[in-house]
Amino acid sequence: MNRFSYERADTIAGAVNAASQTPSAQFIAGGTNLVDLLKANVARPERLIGLSRLPLDTIEETKEGGLRIGALVTNADTAYHPLVERRYPLLARAILAGASAQLRNMATTGGNLLQRTRCYYFYDPGTPCNKREPGSGCGAREGINRIHAILGTSDKCIATHPSDMCVALAALAATVHVTGPRGERTLAFADFHRLPGDTPERDSNLEPGELITAVELPPQGFASHHTYLKLRDRQSYAFALVSVAAALELDGGTIREARIALGGVAHKPWRVPSAEALLQGKPATRESFQPVADALLQGARGFDHNTFKIELARRAIVRALSQAAGLEHSS
Ligand SMILES: Cc1cc2nc3c(=O)[nH]c(=O)nc-3n(C[C@H](O)[C@H](O)[C@H](O)COP(=O)(O)OP(=O)(O)OC[C@H]3O[C@@H](n4cnc5c(N)ncnc54)[C@H](O)[C@@H]3O)c2cc1C
Ligand code: SF4
Repeated sequence: MNRFSYERADTIAGAVNAASQTPSAQFIAGGTNLVDLLKANVARPERLIGLSRLPLDTIEETKEGGLRIGALVTNADTAYHPLVERRYPLLARAILAGASAQLRNMATTGGNLLQRTRCYYFYDPGTPCNKREPGSGCGAREGINRIHAILGTSDKCIATHPSDMCVALAALAATVHVTGPRGERTLAFADFHRLPGDTPERDSNLEPGELITAVELPPQGFASHHTYLKLRDRQSYAFALVSVAAALELDGGTIREARIALGGVAHKPWRVPSAEALLQGKPATRESFQPVADALLQGARGFDHNTFKIELARRAIVRALSQAAGLEHSS
């Protein structure tokens, strides 16, 4: 049993200060991921800092016309917020495709961004895992890797990021607000999560002691033409094998702007702006969508058990874009 202290922070500065004093300290929000990691002896903090008293549980309109979602707003409150339902229904759909009603009532914005991979080896301290224990090896590369990544992998790690909400946030080009020992800063969503490279133990570009305070959505919500398509082994309570957040701005039958982000295929939500640009000015037809799928999946590589994901993702991209364009009913 790993011994740790527990305290609840009353202020943002107090939380950051406490986290900066103890290198192994961790924040705890809804606890739906971290408590499992503590029980499995994968997370071994000396100090746990509870965030529940911090004033980060509101959703507010920004003066730019967007929305600022506090780090402690639960996934359920975000998904059912009237402004999210009306202006960012893609985000609501992605959140409701994840976990269960009970979990969404506890899970928070900040915790969802920083939930850890679902790689089986990561949760099993009896097996090698470079993410859990740098330098120990990767159990998944030669092991059971059906749920693992096909894009952006490294010799050190082939894990995926498991979030649904983050796939929508990537497509919507959200920004992440953080406060740390050196003050406040914002990160573009595309720069928040990392590819594994040689340091798979780092999931994000947060610096030690930094606290997520909010996620900000820009005004453009793609409310008219969007879909979140999640393909998984069971219809509920399962993580994505492949998911696609697709959003279009249409001018009649012509595409003015397209956004596509993939989940379940990489260590971070996968977005390729040059692939999206291929759709600009093109008719919204299946023929236009196929080359975009190819461009998004350029460089994809399967391992022993997950090569099927490449073709699955190709078909899912075309289907999601067809749904967003209104050529097919959303599933
Ligand atoms: C059975 C099950 C099924 C699930 N299915 C899905 C699914 O289908 N799709 C999906 O997307 N998710 C799924 N989830 C994951 C769930 O959405 C996450 O566990 C949840 O979003 C984590 O939020 P939390 O507030 O509970 O985080 P916590 O468990 O409290 O924390 C998670 C991590 O975030 C850090 N953290 C939390 N808040 C902050 C902050 N403000 N600043 C900095 N660091 C912070 C913590 O230190 C910790 O490292 C599932 C979970 C379970 C248990
Ligand atoms: S894929 Fe990553 S998380 Fe999974 S065993 Fe390998 S190093 Fe660990």
